[in-house]
Amino acid sequence: MSINYAKHYQSCVDKVKDEGRYRIFATLERIVGNFPKANYYQPDGSVKEVTVWCSNDYLGMGQHPKVIQAAKEASDKSGAGAGGTRNISGTMKYHVELEESVADLHKKEAALVFSSGYVANEGALSTLGKLLPEAAVFSDELNHASMIHGIRGSQQQKFIYRHNDLEHLEELLKSVDIKRPKIIAFESVYSMEGDIAPIKEICDLADKYNAMTYLDEVHAVGLYGPRGGGVAEMRGLMDRIDVIEGTFGKAYGVMGGYIAGKASIIDAVRCYASGFIFTTSHTPATLAACRASVEHLKESNVERQKSRDNVAHFKGLLEAARLPYLHGESHIVPLIVGEPTCCKEVTDILLSDFNIYVQPINYPTVPRGTERMRMTATAAHSFEDIDYLVQTLQDLWECNHLLRAAVA
Ligand SMILES: *Cc1c(COP(=O)(O)O)cnc(C)c1O
Repeated sequence: MSINYAKHYQSCVDKVKDEGRYRIFATLERIVGNFPKANYYQPDGSVKEVTVWCSNDYLGMGQHPKVIQAAKEASDKSGAGAGGTRNISGTMKYHVELEESVADLHKKEAALVFSSGYVANEGALSTLGKLLPEAAVFSDELNHASMIHGIRGSQQQKFIYRHNDLEHLEELLKSVDIKRPKIIAFESVYSMEGDIAPIKEICDLADKYNAMTYLDEVHAVGLYGPRGGGVAEMRGLMDRIDVIEGTFGKAYGVMGGYIAGKASIIDAVRCYASGFIFTTSHTPATLAACRASVEHLKESNVERQKSRDNVAHFKGLLEAARLPYLHGESHIVPLIVGEPTCCKEVTDILLSDFNIYVQPINYPTVPRGTERMRMTATAAHSFEDIDYLVQTLQDLWECNHLLRAAVA
């Protein structure tokens, strides 16, 4: 009997469809100077302008003239690709300069650039864990998939603590022999909740139980701290974190990930992490653009201030409209719908009737029953954009009984 592979995989897709979480990508064309507006290619082939409300380009750096210029100059000078892995002819001056720039950002001895933040977490956590005999890894239950996969890859014992729950973390730390090496892996800004971890208190626990700290600042770098060093910089805690992990793909507006820390730790990851070693390194354009963005945001506060003003305005209006958003301290504003089909329906209506693009966030990105619209007011939005969004949400919430049920 022959196996019908295509049919088998189709049934897997059908399962996702039945659960209302089949993902349809919105095809966009971003136009320099126009962000957060973008051209949206509708399923029927026609094009219309929409306002993007779910971008991680929090500061609009993806279209910053300095960043674009740096990419162009690097391409013109050095060509389109690196031509190899980091080890085999693919390390360029651009890599070295970007790593110096990042190490300086976090006031660490060294930094290492990866293809993406995902690969950085995966590679660093699996390697750091694997290299510590008998290690115990403590992980916040809402950590990003890349951290979960990295920890799993370390093949060490893992302890999951309730989200930002210090008591639970301490209980778990206490349960493990004090002599065993430990890593606490957590995020600063949780991207689906919009809340921020008690970093200082976690570092205190790390000291008390002799653990290493690994902090994912992906949603914070560029955006928080006087030089964009993240929440740890803002709170004066960078020196208490052993490894800071970040991305160039969110507030920096480009792509790529990194870790920063003591030279020996970074060197160990460089020597052992498969996801770092066996892949072609970044292009000149990408690296130069990343560095231009990082350096710009070390100096400039204009974008960060604009972002904060917009977020405050946005949250103030949501509050006044009594819409059920999660009250985190960060710039991320999740609005809970609590049901996947309804969540998708609302976002479909926003897009088709109001030219507002918010991607519905469903399982497995968030737990079932907590489906949400995750909205980000960037530095590039205007108060007018924000007013229009909140007014529209308010109207939809009032006339849609499903939504009211979700809130009740
Ligand atoms: C997006 C994200 C990553 C991955 O970063 P990329 O550069 O997009 O691969 C890692 N951690 C968290 C918390 C994220 O949200």
